[in-house]
Amino acid sequence: MDFGLWTLDFQGMIARVTLEMALGKEFDYLIPPGLASQIEVGSRVQVPFGPRKMMGCVTALAEQSAHAKLKPILKVIGAQTLVTAKVMRLARWIGEYYCCPPEIALKSVLPEAVRQEQAGWRERLYVRVLPTNGELPKLPKRQKEVWNIIEERREMPLKELIELAETTAATVRKLEDQGLVSILSQVSERDPYAHEHILPTQPLPLNPEQLKALEAILAVIDRKPGKSAAAKSAAKPSSISTPLSSTFLLHGVTGSGKTEVYLQALAHTLEQGKGAIVLVPEISLTPQTVERFKARFSSGPQKTLVAVLHSHLSGGERHDEWHKIRQGRARIAIGARSAIFAPVDPLGLIIVDEEHEHTYKQEESPRYHARDVAIVRGQMEGATVVLGSATPSLESYYNAVKGKYRLLEMLNRADDKKLPYVRVVDMRQTLRKGQGIPIFSPQLKEAIQQRLERAEQTILFLNRRGYSSSLQCPACGYVADCPNCSISLTYHRQEQKLLCHICGHSDRVPVVCPQPKCRNPQIRYAGLGTQKVEETIAKLFPHARVRRMDSDALKRKDDFRKILGDFRNGKIDILLGTQMIAKGLHFPNVTLVGIVYADMALHQADFRAGERTFQLLTQVAGRAGRGDIEGEVFVQAFTPFHPAIQFARRHDFKGYYDQEIEFRQQLRYPPFSRVAMLTLKGRNEEKVKFSADHVKKSLEKELKDFGFGLVIAGPGPAPLLRAETYYRYQIMLRVERMSPLSKRLAILLPAAPLVEDVTLSVDIDPMDLG
Ligand code: ADP
Ligand code: ZN
Repeated sequence: MDFGLWTLDFQGMIARVTLEMALGKEFDYLIPPGLASQIEVGSRVQVPFGPRKMMGCVTALAEQSAHAKLKPILKVIGAQTLVTAKVMRLARWIGEYYCCPPEIALKSVLPEAVRQEQAGWRERLYVRVLPTNGELPKLPKRQKEVWNIIEERREMPLKELIELAETTAATVRKLEDQGLVSILSQVSERDPYAHEHILPTQPLPLNPEQLKALEAILAVIDRKPGKSAAAKSAAKPSSISTPLSSTFLLHGVTGSGKTEVYLQALAHTLEQGKGAIVLVPEISLTPQTVERFKARFSSGPQKTLVAVLHSHLSGGERHDEWHKIRQGRARIAIGARSAIFAPVDPLGLIIVDEEHEHTYKQEESPRYHARDVAIVRGQMEGATVVLGSATPSLESYYNAVKGKYRLLEMLNRADDKKLPYVRVVDMRQTLRKGQGIPIFSPQLKEAIQQRLERAEQTILFLNRRGYSSSLQCPACGYVADCPNCSISLTYHRQEQKLLCHICGHSDRVPVVCPQPKCRNPQIRYAGLGTQKVEETIAKLFPHARVRRMDSDALKRKDDFRKILGDFRNGKIDILLGTQMIAKGLHFPNVTLVGIVYADMALHQADFRAGERTFQLLTQVAGRAGRGDIEGEVFVQAFTPFHPAIQFARRHDFKGYYDQEIEFRQQLRYPPFSRVAMLTLKGRNEEKVKFSADHVKKSLEKELKDFGFGLVIAGPGPAPLLRAETYYRYQIMLRVERMSPLSKRLAILLPAAPLVEDVTLSVDIDPMDLG
């Protein structure tokens, strides 16, 4: 694709259109002279397609087409283009890099609620007080009551008035008949945060580490466009001779004050007349997080400066928030993964908080990684990018070490609070002493008891849900497996059910071990899960107020807020949970964090299992001691000397990085290579396996002279061989540079030799190998 086609002022005769229907390609149409002034890149148009009329989106303008006899565009829909030319260019990059058809890439950049025409602005009826000249007419009692309410407020939505006055629309209409009020329809913006009272905050005076980080970021934000980047890097002789990168990696320990640095960098960006995008993982997109940004920028007259995009909003709310950004009224977009496509223009700054988080990767097509898209978007639009984390991904830290990103470090807590003291408890010793699999070591038990006596709070962390994670017979080792997915079923005690986390398969709980030679009746009491921990706590500490917080207990978002509120207000002594409580939350009275089974996530068929465990432990440990009292962390483990546990214990990211990077290098795993994972899927295992062999052979032939250190491995059965009754086989490609490979794969894969009923998908830079 010629980038020249993307310049905005260019007016071609021909529009390239992607249709809102899965066809996997674009079509050229003539632009009729009457529509020429309305059509630009991003316009939604109606075009003839065969005998039908279809909706599409203009992706490019051109002067020439390879096709003769083009049909004309029929009409343009909507006054303003939905996708800006810049975001369109990003969508095109996504289609190419992640090997997906243009209409799929385009879908991901526009929220469903915006794409659908019917979900437009909401009109509401408003009641407004009209000026009275002189005396108020004598009103019946009901009308008088309504009048008193509306007179005081001057204007309010009819519906709210009716509720407040406990009256009917007819009564309000009577006031209208007498000329006292008017009732008019107005566009009413849905503001999901309308009911929050957020107190404005002022910038904090920064500590030296924060100041250094902020100054480095501001220097890049202030860099004049067009000025040679290389010229400036001369001022910093320590850096390698790469041009001054405009991507930063801010490695700051939990509580080092990264958010304050973000806030001040954002303020500076706004002063420059530019907007910004802040990405946070869905799970830490709590009201608390959003409040910190709103409090700095959304109070006072500029109330809509911050728009929030996330999955808990209703379609209508999402529509309104998105358009606030598109119309330039909101200048900061904060949201989860897909907020990277927010139509902020001009864009000055992108912040990716917790950049190591796996939820930035979308696990369906287009399988993009929002952090990587952020970097590409930053480059395309000349925006500064700040990646922040207490536990950076190996990939990002490696890029920083290599000088591709600029490394900023904040190794001390902003409030001078000490990092908590972490003790690793060897559970094998507790196992030898007791009967069955222990849940609490004597050390942790005693520490919890102390907290209860001192009225301090405890968080207990377990990386699984359900009563016991699996049903395993302690006598013979039998494990209840899912018949569809070849993973163990989860034991849910309250429902007395065995459930599969992948396909939802459900089974009854056996009364005795099903193995004919065993028949152990104690099978139900084995294993470990949040519910069992809860029960054990109830037994050990009968007077403690305990709440469990995991995705089972939190089907509704209000529960999430309520539990957090109760915990903050001291109504809960012990909070027990999964990932949900691992990040982003601040509780000053929490002085103890217990990690019940630290090695649960360690032994998996994924080269990132160790990294993930390290990140998790470090983040969880960071929850303790955020107040005035020093925090303490207990890590219970059956493999206490694993490096992921030992380095997390010492809060030593660099130490962990150094040993882990060596392992990655030896095995040529990322960041020393990039991975493309092909997955073949079908109901018949023979057919899947046959196709996989065949695809591999044809790739080997086609890519024989490809270069870039390409290695093709497999095919092998996926770790979860039969997910949802489909057999899956994988082929893993490792290569030094991905773009050339994904371009080739986009051509080769649609022509891949597949047997009937077998499908092939590709995941570029996969995060989860399961
Ligand atoms: P992080 O995002 O790195 O985990 P936070 O931004 O949440 O850290 O900061 C941790 C705590 O330190 C917060 O309570 C914050 O208000 C406080 N803090 C941050 N910067 C400063 C500062 N310069 N002076 C005093 N307190 C600060
Ligand atoms: Zn299953």
